[in-house]
Amino acid sequence: MLTIRAMAAMGPWILTHIDVLRRRGDEQCQRCGENLRYVWVMEKQTEPKEVWRIGSTCGPTLELVSEEMWNKLIKPFTTSIDLLLDLEHLAKWELEYPALLPRSYELGWAEKQRAIIAAGDLTAHQRMVLGHHIRAKEKAYRLSLRRHAAG
Ligand SMILES: [Zn+2]
Repeated sequence: MLTIRAMAAMGPWILTHIDVLRRRGDEQCQRCGENLRYVWVMEKQTEPKEVWRIGSTCGPTLELVSEEMWNKLIKPFTTSIDLLLDLEHLAKWELEYPALLPRSYELGWAEKQRAIIAAGDLTAHQRMVLGHHIRAKEKAYRLSLRRHAAG
């Protein structure tokens, strides 16, 4: 199995989009073989171009390592990773603590935003606005969980 670092050394990788599979396990991560639900479609930016379909464990790590390794040389990166990680938290909390939803938060919101990001085509401005909403909701939910834990 190729290490993430070795993959990143081959060239900078960019997340092109995320495929949401109908069922976990319909496809395996091309790097580590884990069963996938969210497929991070990563494209290597150097020739020969390559597209790898990997998991939501390998994907963020590859993006991060690639960004660290290459960011000083070129700057085509978008910061999708933080937003997606926040959405992972939110989706998990929705599942585990639906009773602690913050005000003005609808169940299923995280999944909807994930689909919007997955569809791609967001302008830099739209991405920024979406990022603002995601961070605000993550903060609100975190606060609600903390209040519950304290009380
Ligand atoms: Zn993997």
